[in-house]
Amino acid sequence: MRFQKLLLTTVTLVLWGCGSGNSDPTSHATQMVYVDLHTNTAVVGDRSDVVPAVNPATGERSLMPALYCSNCGQWHPSPPLEELQRIPAARQCPQCGSAMSADGPWPEAVQP
Ligand SMILES: [Zn+2]
Repeated sequence: MRFQKLLLTTVTLVLWGCGSGNSDPTSHATQMVYVDLHTNTAVVGDRSDVVPAVNPATGERSLMPALYCSNCGQWHPSPPLEELQRIPAARQCPQCGSAMSADGPWPEAVQP
């Protein structure tokens, strides 16, 4: 519980800190890459503590955090964080088995 409270405080501070610059091109601090579970396409959305996150284009909770496979050149939905920490193989690409990372070419941002 103590950790959750600390996390919440941190998130609040981060949100405050970024509140002024809405057209900052280096928005990686407030946004991240997701994969929409309905369309299986990679999109950029605001960071969210709750997943699936809301896709602003559809209003549905269908966005899962994504990991990039440089071998396939594709973003794939990431397994839950607990699974990533527990099972190292969870970071492997479901298609080719290569290690995936959170870094990759960013897709288009979602237009609400
Ligand atoms: Zn792959």
